[in-house]
This record gives sequence, structure tokens and C-alpha cells, in this order.
Amino acid sequence: MEELKLNNGQMIPQLGLGVFKVQDADDLKRAVAEALKDGYRHFDTATIYHNEEWLGEALAQSDVKREDLFITSKVWNSNTTYDETIAAFHESLKKLQTDYLDLYLIHWPSEGYNEKWRAMESLYNDGLIKSIGVSNFEKPHLEKLMTTATIKPTVDQIETHPYFQQKELHEYLKSLDIVHEAWGPLGQGKSNVLEDPVLTKIAEAHSKTVAQVILRWHLQRDIIVIPKSVHEERIAQNIDVFDFTLTEEEMSMIASIDKNQRGSGDPNDEEFLKG
Ligand code: NAD
Repeated sequence: MEELKLNNGQMIPQLGLGVFKVQDADDLKRAVAEALKDGYRHFDTATIYHNEEWLGEALAQSDVKREDLFITSKVWNSNTTYDETIAAFHESLKKLQTDYLDLYLIHWPSEGYNEKWRAMESLYNDGLIKSIGVSNFEKPHLEKLMTTATIKPTVDQIETHPYFQQKELHEYLKSLDIVHEAWGPLGQGKSNVLEDPVLTKIAEAHSKTVAQVILRWHLQRDIIVIPKSVHEERIAQNIDVFDFTLTEEEMSMIASIDKNQRGSGDPNDEEFLKG
């Protein structure tokens, strides 16, 4: 598994399993067991997914050592203060059956994010989190965060797929040495990106699926990907992307199909952020 180095020196596996919308304990446990067997070591959850407990159980049942796992969770919008953030973090630790997190993120730039960050810095300084980061932060949010932050975020997890490539934000994050992590890397199964003719042609040329080409494209942009699936065959397929390389021409062909089309959740929509 390829790894990227974060700006605090910690390493992160570049591909992991996302578990958003996995609402069934058995599905989740089966998916995690399958993923571990296929070589996944990085798992992405959040308090709001209501499945941290099942992920904790699934990981506890495996014989992979804790230090070989990379676990991410996120503090939800309803926790707006320093104290609420600390309490939410400890709740997540308990559910995940661990005594530290590899990565903890502010889920959305909602009310009180500078205070939440102060709490996360304190947890980081206490050694309870290896790396701290943000999610769904755009340039103005990062600028506001940095007015009070003493530690720079390591990661920004943002919606990214071939129809919403985030070219500008990608370059901005790069200039700050903040790693770009893609959520919805496959378009969440909502957009028709998996049927795109340009991607289909490239997939045929490499005898790979469109999903694999999309994941490979993210990896070659130095982006972290956390595709979600609970299906054995797709979980295996999504990690089988380290044995081929897209050419520069193919990378530019994919760059040209961007529609700048957000799938869900606008971090500039105040009403949405209250939800
Ligand atoms: P995704 O782009 O990973 O799409 C998942 C869907 O794609 C699946 O439900 C399935 O329908 C399809 N799929 C998966 N593998 C496939 C394959 N090989 N072939 C064909 N179809 C396939 O979307 P996502 O789950 O929303 O995003 C991934 C992860 O990102 C989430 O599970 C979660 O961990 C994280 N996430 C974070 C935020 C955030 O606000 N930070 C928001 C959404 C998701």
C-alpha cells in the first residue's frame, strides 16, 4: 500500500475503506473483514455515521495489530464548543475500542470551528490523536481557522471526483502542504460518472473498470481515497489499483471532463451546516 507523508511527519495509507451509510452491523463487519483480508489498513468513519461501535468491534475481532491500522473519525456539527469536542472525541475512542485515533477531523466548517480546533490541538498535544485535520473546508474557512490555530491541519477531506475535481482548492491545499483527501471519490454512485465515455475508453485500454481508473486518477494526483463498498468483489476491485499507471495524456483527458458539479453538501450553505 502506498503511503503519503503528512506535514507533521506521520504517514497515511493512500487508500482506505469509507463506511458512510453502512447501517447494518453485519454488513459492516463483513466488509471490514474482507477489506483487511485484501490489504486495507485505513478506515474512515464519523460520529454521525452511527457505526463507530461496529467498526470498533470488527477491528477488535481481527488479528491485525492496532499500530498497523489507520483509523479516522470526525466531530459532528452539533458539538460546537471546546468541551463538547473533547467529550465527543472520548466517546468515539470508546466506541472504536482504541486509546488513540490516527486522524480526527472537523466534519464541516460549522459554528465554532476555531474552538473545536483548539480542543483538537489539545488532544493532539496529549498524544491522543496522531494527526488532526478538517473536512469540507474551503479557502476562506482555512484562512479563518489559521487566525487562531497553532497547528496546521494535515488533511482536508473534500468531495472530489472526475465531475467535481476541485482543481483550485487542490492547488491551494498543495501550497499549504495540506493533503487533499477525496470523499465521494466515485461520485457516490449518484452521478453517472461510472458510465462516462472518456473513462470507459481509458478503462478498456488498461483492462480495468471505470471505478479503478477513477481511483488511480486520484492516486496520481497525490490524493487520499476512501471508496465505500460493502460488496466483497468491489472492495477487492477498489484496492487493486496499484499495478497500472495512467499516462499523462489520460490524466489530461480526465482533467477535461470536469463539470465542477457538486454532488451533495455545500460548505457555504449556512442552513445545511446547521443540520
Ligand atoms: P463513493 O464515491 O465512495 O461511492 C460509494 C458508492 O459507489 C457505493 O455505494 C457503490 O454504489 C459505488 N461503488 C463502490 N465501489 C464500486 C465499484 N468498484 N464499482 C461500481 N460501483 C462502486 O461515496 P461515499 O461513500 O459517499 O464516499 C466515500 C467515503 O468518504 C464515505 O464512505 C465516508 O467515509 C467519506 N465521506 C465523507 C464525507 C465528509 O463530509 N467528510 C461525506 C461523504 C463521504
